[in-house]
Amino acid sequence: MTPTIIAIDGPAASGKSTIGELLAKKLGYLYFDTGVMYRAITAVALNHHLAISDENAITELAEQVQIDILPPDQNDGRQYTIRADARDLTWEIRQRDVDANVSTVSTYRGVRAAMKSQQRRVGERGRVVMVGRDIGTVVFPDADLKIYLDASEDERARRRHRERIARGERVDFENVLQEIRKRDEIDSTRSVAPLKKADDAVMVDSTGLSIDDVLARVLEIVERSARG
Ligand code: C5P
Repeated sequence: MTPTIIAIDGPAASGKSTIGELLAKKLGYLYFDTGVMYRAITAVALNHHLAISDENAITELAEQVQIDILPPDQNDGRQYTIRADARDLTWEIRQRDVDANVSTVSTYRGVRAAMKSQQRRVGERGRVVMVGRDIGTVVFPDADLKIYLDASEDERARRRHRERIARGERVDFENVLQEIRKRDEIDSTRSVAPLKKADDAVMVDSTGLSIDDVLARVLEIVERSARG
């Protein structure tokens, strides 16, 4: 049987959202990018001028804010529409101040607890490709299939740099590389649900591979898993 909950974890800019979305389309599954939720909380916190270091205030916010992940309502290249706090945050959550602060927000135990219960509620319906950092280890440790998607730091930074230039931002490669390094460092060393490969996850290294190559490899893994 085709796995019904597919977890894809991995570091920043490893291609999880591109591959996750394509895989979900191919299988007719829901695509759920959990990073969006941590980003939305961070964006709302910044809009409210909360101090990112104020764990209690940020946790309270995470427990109250309703984040809506909806089908795209505009044809501007978005994968989905993100709304929180009665605002469309779809592009705002990709801005640099969110990138710079989201990993700190994601270290907070109460924030993670609030996000995890929402993520489980969506995932339990099944037929979902769920993308994040701790899906195979914490959110769905019994997922039917777990993939850990990785790529060299240099390649990940190149991809993210290209994306930002394409969005019209003026950014320097070295800065993007440093930001990715910093985020990975915080994500993989935090005490609650750190980024790591689950023991039973299949590792896919996408360094030097095209999107089509990675998707083909992932589909092969899904088929193998379906055959049991
Ligand atoms: O995947 P993306 O880069 O959009 O995730 C943004 C941030 O959200 C990560 O750097 C990480 O701090 C946090 N995150 C997390 N757990 C997840 C998904 C994302 O801690 N399941």
